[in-house]
Amino acid sequence: MLTKKLPPLKGFLSLVPRRASHVARQQYDVIVVGGGHAGTEAAAAAARVGAETLLVTQKIQTIGALSCNPSLGGVGKGQLVKEVDALDGLCGRAGDWAGIHFSILNRSKGPAVWGPRAQLDRQRYREFIQSELLSTPRLTVLEGSVEELLVTEPNPEEPGQHKVTGIRLANESHPISASSVILTTGTFLSGSLFMGQSTSPGGRIGDAPSSTGLSQTLRERLGLRTGRLRTGTPPRILKDSVDLSQAHLHPPDSHPTPFSFMNTHTRCKPEEQLPCYLTHTTPGVERVVRESLHLNCHIQQDTKGPRYCPSIESRVLRFPGRQHQVWLEPEGFTSDLLYPQGLSMTMPPDMQLRLIREIPALHRAEIHMPGYGVQYDFVCPTQLSPALQVKSTQGLFLAGQINGTTGYEEAAAQGLWAGVNAARLALSMPTLALSRTESYIGVLIDDLVSRGVTEPYRMFTSRVEFRTSLRPDNADLRLTLKGFEELGCVSTLRYQEAVRVRDSLQDALAALEALALSTDNWRKKLPNMRMSEAKNMTLTGGNMLQYKDVSFEMLASAFPECLSPYMEFSQRLKIEAVYRPHCYLQKKEIERIQREENMSLPQDIDYFSLPVSLSQEVREILDRVRPSTLGAATRLQGITPAAIVHLLHYVNYMVQKEKRTHRNQADQKEDREEDMCARNASLPQ
Ligand code: FAD
Repeated sequence: MLTKKLPPLKGFLSLVPRRASHVARQQYDVIVVGGGHAGTEAAAAAARVGAETLLVTQKIQTIGALSCNPSLGGVGKGQLVKEVDALDGLCGRAGDWAGIHFSILNRSKGPAVWGPRAQLDRQRYREFIQSELLSTPRLTVLEGSVEELLVTEPNPEEPGQHKVTGIRLANESHPISASSVILTTGTFLSGSLFMGQSTSPGGRIGDAPSSTGLSQTLRERLGLRTGRLRTGTPPRILKDSVDLSQAHLHPPDSHPTPFSFMNTHTRCKPEEQLPCYLTHTTPGVERVVRESLHLNCHIQQDTKGPRYCPSIESRVLRFPGRQHQVWLEPEGFTSDLLYPQGLSMTMPPDMQLRLIREIPALHRAEIHMPGYGVQYDFVCPTQLSPALQVKSTQGLFLAGQINGTTGYEEAAAQGLWAGVNAARLALSMPTLALSRTESYIGVLIDDLVSRGVTEPYRMFTSRVEFRTSLRPDNADLRLTLKGFEELGCVSTLRYQEAVRVRDSLQDALAALEALALSTDNWRKKLPNMRMSEAKNMTLTGGNMLQYKDVSFEMLASAFPECLSPYMEFSQRLKIEAVYRPHCYLQKKEIERIQREENMSLPQDIDYFSLPVSLSQEVREILDRVRPSTLGAATRLQGITPAAIVHLLHYVNYMVQKEKRTHRNQADQKEDREEDMCARNASLPQ
């Protein structure tokens, strides 16, 4: 068993800005532009795969900065963090290092949709990410602003197909070459900041926007379609000025659950965790929003913002007269600030102060930094392949908010995947795609590249068709082995741990199946459990574990000799037992689709009136393309595996119905002929 103590930070003190002229080489396999959540995962993943990698970012001190809420995970997002961790990414371990308040969201629902989440210490998170990058072999970190992307003109034999050759930094004449470049510039591409009536260029408060040269190359030389989106952040409030007695205490989980499969505990001890608080808006808040509308440029624009993380202005305008939740969240162990989640706003600073003071717990609150909004360009992600490579430019990859997503987790997941593929391309290995049936990352990327975005995209469990199989608890079994054996981005240590876990779980499940007892005997062994089966039948330990009130611990104390070696996995075994029948059926569905690839789809189907559950978007695609086989439908952009399952059931039903009709017609014909014969026979000769 691994010693899973959290290691001390490595190399943090040696983090010093380097200039381009100090970089040892002028040629890399992979260059990553941007040190945010996508860029750091991309750079680390590319280096893990074996590529000589350069990470260039505007300011080294902002590497790993949490631009908005200091938190990680949540419903849907937590699954992404677990998957990034399973592929040996950074954010899960950084969350375990920096977390100050851990909780599992959605606990009232099944474990498949639980959302691991942590409130973070901003400073610790940044330190962890910076320290990891600095100690990653084959990775060089450089402070600088990328001014220009270097690309070749299309080859006459491949019209429209450019190739990336490297980058040029601002104030540096020498280019730095690379086979692959990953752009992860977040909200910085043509970024503008908004507060009240003033606007200024910027990617984030205190940071200049990305150079116009970069946007020009993307739009004018490469002809990429771009769009514009917006987001915003709340004012930061001085903790001492808040009356927390007027808010509801929201304690963390008593036992913090680590994000990382490599950690058995978090750095913060259970009793050291800090609480969050919940309060609500009042009618006064709505009044201030309305009074300040004419002074609020950001809200007057029709650029799309994040629907599921809206500003207080949008919430008030969309749902007038309602009380809205405001979470008061600590920013770190030593921070004097509170982050008021739910109060993102862009009105003038004096109105922001008036607004927050309309909330009883904040009636004397002082603002440390006002809220602001940002508008930025994104590249329409349908121009990317499932490897996140720009289809028209070999070697150019995009990841993170530049692809129209919002959130650290979405950015980290794309960054990791772009990093793996950029390194593979540079090392002359084929690029790869992750499927919707194996991961949330696969769903995220498939949604982006096949459907595109019209508003900032964030991950939800409802986007995932096979969510009972793609659970947070089993991300290591789904991805770590593949990450080591096929992708090359997972360390041997992590791989060995995943193999140990897989083998132990298999042995434990076999031991549970081997425990086959009659219901009468189970009642004797587990006298405290309620069993509805009236008949005396044989049930295995696995069947018993599916009962709500049977835990693995109960079974292990009844059968210590065969089950106690697996106590470490008690929760995973319980979840596995509960979901096993569903996952088995889902697996069969997936296999069936793969077998029935060649099934013909009738060309006269009216997709709009099919009595099956298909979205309007899916019906339109099927109607437009009219795929000839099920396999062809599977490969259509925007067609989900769930749609394929419904289509398969429907076509099978129609085939059976047709067969029955044919049989009936044949039977009727035979009957008629017999009748005729009989009648003929009875006719007088
Ligand atoms: P970022 O984390 O933004 O990182 C981009 C990096 O690229 C930066 O380090 C920057 O310095 C660097 N860079 C840019 N251009 C260049 C260049 N030319 N050369 C070198 N380096 C460059 N998310 C939510 O989920 N909910 C919210 O409510 C929310 N609100 C936000 C509010 C604000 C004001 C901001 C700025 C962001 C908000 N976010 C929110 C978004 C969240 O911060 C991002 O989704 C996430 O950080 C995206 O990660 P990224 O790696 O794509 O980009």
